[in-house]
Amino acid sequence: MTTSSAPTPSSAVPEPVWASVHDSVVAALRDLIRIPSINPVDPSVPDGETRVARYLEGRLRALGLEPEVVEPVPGRGSVHARLRGDGSGGDPFLLMSHLDVVPAPPERWSHDPFAADVADGYVYGRGAVDMKGMIALEVGVIERLVGEAREAGRDPARDPIPGLRRDVLFTCVADEEAGSTDGARWFAANRPEWLLAAAAVNECGGFSVTVGGRRLYPIQVAEKGFVPYRIHVSGTWGHGSMPRDDNAAVRAAQIVERLAEPGPIRVTPVMTRFLEAAAAALPRDAAAVLRRIADGGLDPAATDRAIDGLCDPMYARALRAMLRDTLSPNVIEAGVKYNVIPGDAIVEVDCRILPGTTERDMFAEVERRIGPDLLPACRIERLALGEPVESPAEGPFWDTLVATLRDHDPAGVALPMMVPAATDAKATAIVGTPTYGFSPFRLEPEERFLERFHGVDERISLDALRFGLPVLYDVVRRFCG
Ligand SMILES: [Zn+2]
Repeated sequence: MTTSSAPTPSSAVPEPVWASVHDSVVAALRDLIRIPSINPVDPSVPDGETRVARYLEGRLRALGLEPEVVEPVPGRGSVHARLRGDGSGGDPFLLMSHLDVVPAPPERWSHDPFAADVADGYVYGRGAVDMKGMIALEVGVIERLVGEAREAGRDPARDPIPGLRRDVLFTCVADEEAGSTDGARWFAANRPEWLLAAAAVNECGGFSVTVGGRRLYPIQVAEKGFVPYRIHVSGTWGHGSMPRDDNAAVRAAQIVERLAEPGPIRVTPVMTRFLEAAAAALPRDAAAVLRRIADGGLDPAATDRAIDGLCDPMYARALRAMLRDTLSPNVIEAGVKYNVIPGDAIVEVDCRILPGTTERDMFAEVERRIGPDLLPACRIERLALGEPVESPAEGPFWDTLVATLRDHDPAGVALPMMVPAATDAKATAIVGTPTYGFSPFRLEPEERFLERFHGVDERISLDALRFGLPVLYDVVRRFCG
């Protein structure tokens, strides 16, 4: 199997045109990586997000569009532009992305994370995968659409793009990596027209995963909710020479152990479809295992073992989390000195809930796990809440995604998936826009793409970008045409 340049059976754009737009996508990606838009905001680059927004504004303006940059907070800019359709096709289509990145301590990188080196067929740098590569691809699609307007003698800022029956929105926001308060959530509340659409594509899905020799394209249609809690544990202060049973550090340790126990399996409708579609594509042995998981025929431990035997540990960890509510105790604080028994401790637990699980359910589960012996010593504080979201894995837009992937990679299998993490799809859900994680990259079987997110040596292959460009273009053309 190879990921060399794919034929573009469905698109009418000639190959030399794609080659030129591809060069421009790569150039844009490298420019974007070189602007460190780190979140939480790095004091050395306090306006990194606005600088990326301004860069994109300049690029879109040079194409003849009229983009807008808005800063809910100084330095934290987001950018938006609109391509016009003739209005006969209904609500707009949204290209949704975020322009911030997580920090990248350079010590273990083989390339400077903000130099955007091209080496071994990859573009290296923080954000290459999450998600400046997609921004660059979207700008490439816009560049092509604008080119077609100009070839037809139209002004892309004012006139409809030939063949588009809906508007295409480009919205690229700040602050996804730290809660979206100054990004997507702000726009949902204050500028909903930036997010309102019949459908949107966003990050976290659509790229290929090779399992059992088959190339699967899980498209994100759902994501879990998050609800972190801080548990204040009390005990009694005392002298370390005379141990106490009510040492708060010991209690915290017991609580951590109880919280960390893997919970029961619950297969949501989306994951049932995921498992059944994967089973239909995979060899008989693997298929049988997937069907047993889908049927709920295995206990939690057996399910986890079956998953471990099925795929790479990187994907196994993700799949286990897609099949249950999870609790991960990630912070423990206690103690002031070795000979002082602590009377207070703190445990913070990151809880992720499936669609159908409520915050009340999870709160009750945390209490149950702490147990009646330790619960009286605890006060539980909720730190945040993000609801699970789901978009329909059916209907015209879903069909467009599946058909377009199939046309560009006939051996690939598209299937709906829920991601265990959170994205700006939570904010687009507030305004009612169905949102799909769809970064259409065909990857080498050995590519460890999931590890590139927030990882060391984050990088994206030129072939992946080359494949994705006409796919995304065709999605836009087909859904909006
Ligand atoms: Zn991201």
